[in-house]
Amino acid sequence: MFVIVGASLAGAKAAETLREEGFDGRLVLLGAEDERPYERPPLSKDYLRGEAERATAYVHDAGFYADHDIELRTGTAVTGLDAGAAELVLEGGERLGYDRLLLATGAEPRRLRIPGADLAGVHLLRTFADSDALRERLDAGGRLVVVGAGWIGSEVAASARQRGMDVTMVAPEAVPLERVLGLEVGGIYRDLHRDHGVDLRMEAGVAAFEGDGRVERVTLQDGTAIACDAVVVGAGAVPRSGLAEAAGLEVENGVLVDGRLETSGPGIFAAGDVANHLHPAFGRLRVEHWDNALHQGPAAARAMLGAPEPYTRTPYFFSDQYDVGMEYSGFAAGWDRVVLRGDPATREFIAFWLAGGRVVAGMNVNVWDVAETIGALIGHPIDPRRLADPGVPLTELSTVSQGGAS
Ligand SMILES: Cc1cc2nc3c(=O)[nH]c(=O)nc-3n(C[C@H](O)[C@H](O)[C@H](O)COP(=O)(O)OP(=O)(O)OC[C@H]3O[C@@H](n4cnc5c(N)ncnc54)[C@H](O)[C@@H]3O)c2cc1C
Repeated sequence: MFVIVGASLAGAKAAETLREEGFDGRLVLLGAEDERPYERPPLSKDYLRGEAERATAYVHDAGFYADHDIELRTGTAVTGLDAGAAELVLEGGERLGYDRLLLATGAEPRRLRIPGADLAGVHLLRTFADSDALRERLDAGGRLVVVGAGWIGSEVAASARQRGMDVTMVAPEAVPLERVLGLEVGGIYRDLHRDHGVDLRMEAGVAAFEGDGRVERVTLQDGTAIACDAVVVGAGAVPRSGLAEAAGLEVENGVLVDGRLETSGPGIFAAGDVANHLHPAFGRLRVEHWDNALHQGPAAARAMLGAPEPYTRTPYFFSDQYDVGMEYSGFAAGWDRVVLRGDPATREFIAFWLAGGRVVAGMNVNVWDVAETIGALIGHPIDPRRLADPGVPLTELSTVSQGGAS
């Protein structure tokens, strides 16, 4: 019997792949949420704004799981893992044995440990229920404070402005998305939000949320008070690795897995947001993105069936804010040069991050059908002048890089 803990994108795609690859044994997919597996990107974008139907977010049709003999048990939290006995303990005490186990337990929003963090009107965003609650707020209008200037904070700020709310964004960084994009490219997103009327309070820390029963103002560390009707905290996510840790598996910023996504416990695999994977090109990497869950789930399924191939996919993610869409390929832990192709003021450009003369990441903004070509440049030394020159086709650069020269 194969068991998957976590009925979201990684878990659902793993179950689908196990059946596609011919696994005909008992297959159980356990999820703590009451929903069948769904995708989260719409929760901060069109679904949040009321522009997309709930039905479009589900990974599979309602009948898919029964049709494929997948025992989907929603509303079922796993509370314990006994790796020695190869058994799970479910909420309520039921024990379930397994021959192979996949941990696809994802991540959860980081909570702020400050006074007022539990006040009504302070929102986190991870689930359908979170998005529904926030959507009601967007419908009602008023003043929203977004704490955090990462992907979730930036997308929520954009959606709330699009719905007509007054939005203040508060974050410790100098520019939105600074941690991933750096000052220069993050500055482009700062201008984008500013142009859409977001009141940006950067390099600022939040001291407390205050109000009589529900949040009425956010107090910053410098004493400034910002009046509001609601708050969204987008302070990053933490991997849900508690089961693995309690079972004695190796855990460090997620569940450590080898190249084939197997944990330190034989027969136990991990995929998606919870997995800290040993990538052949990028080293240890825990990727909190949709594309990773989409592909790592199936890769883990194949590994559970004995496939020897490592998971080698280049990290990729996307984001939509206002009318600006982007795709990012690669992973830049550090870089010494940023090369821009096109004028960022037009909000149609490509940015490349280089380290030691090699491309480590690239991001296309409102330029489409190039992500794969950009991905092919990653790891290669490319002449920055040619990279910056829109007159040199990207495909030419990738062909040259494949040949090993530049
Ligand atoms: C609002 C939002 C917007 C996003 N937008 C983008 C985007 O634009 N682009 C992008 O690339 N990525 C985006 N992401 C990230 C993407 O959604 C995640 O990377 C993806 O959901 C990870 O899937 P997963 O299956 O690994 O884990 P998760 O989606 O976190 O699911 C894990 C599941 O496991 C369940 N679970 C956990 N512990 C247990 C347990 N003990 N027992 C039973 N069940 C358990 C949880 O309840 C949950 O349903 C967004 C995320 C959010 C929250």
